Amino acid sequence: MTIKENILEILDDIKKYSPNPEKVKLVAVTKYVDSDTIKEVLKTGVNILGENKVQVIEEKRKELPENEYDIKWHFIGNLQKNKVKYIASYIDIIHSINKLSLAEEIDKRAKSHNRKIDVLLEINISEEESKEGYILKELLEDIPKLLKLENINICGLMTMAPFEEDEEKIRTIFRNLRLLKEKWNKEYFNGQLKELSMGMSQDYKIALEEGATLIRVGSKIYK
Ligand SMILES: *Cc1c(COP(=O)(O)O)cnc(C)c1O
Repeated sequence: MTIKENILEILDDIKKYSPNPEKVKLVAVTKYVDSDTIKEVLKTGVNILGENKVQVIEEKRKELPENEYDIKWHFIGNLQKNKVKYIASYIDIIHSINKLSLAEEIDKRAKSHNRKIDVLLEINISEEESKEGYILKELLEDIPKLLKLENINICGLMTMAPFEEDEEKIRTIFRNLRLLKEKWNKEYFNGQLKELSMGMSQDYKIALEEGATLIRVGSKIYK
């Protein structure tokens, strides 16, 4: 299948599986491909691109300059504090806040650019050792401090399901993230959590059914 056909299929699945398709955006994960392939993606009208390495975004931004291409770059990987400064002026959403010190650094860099950066709190719902993201207990301790950071806008939650076959386990993880968002909107966030970033090539349909608003799909686009 072509890139275009794959993307059309995913956009169609959003309508099929999501209870609120108008709230859902596709993040085309481009970490596997070069700028020429990205141009094929952009031609379909999809312009939210997910990358997990700062240096790679920097290189691709040079090849896809702002004055020619309207791209919203989303950072979806493990972000090192010392790299935040490179992306702070332009990054659209950082999906992967997994510790207070990282949030503080993003806040500081956003302030120096006179902007507020949208971020998501990444939660390791399954508490697997191998996974990135906050353990719930640690995040709960940090919430009051995170809420005081004025130059980040915590606009939602993100998780990665384990690579498993068991659909019900994956579904439970996505559902728990949605329930957490609903609960925390009342308890701490006064309704400001809008986004649920969950679902990848293998499991985005389940994520859509469970209320995902940002699906991060990579490999399926290039098959
Ligand atoms: C690579 C990646 C994706 C996309 O995964 P696919 O299985 O290729 O769709 C989504 N989210 C994160 C955080 C990733 O690193």
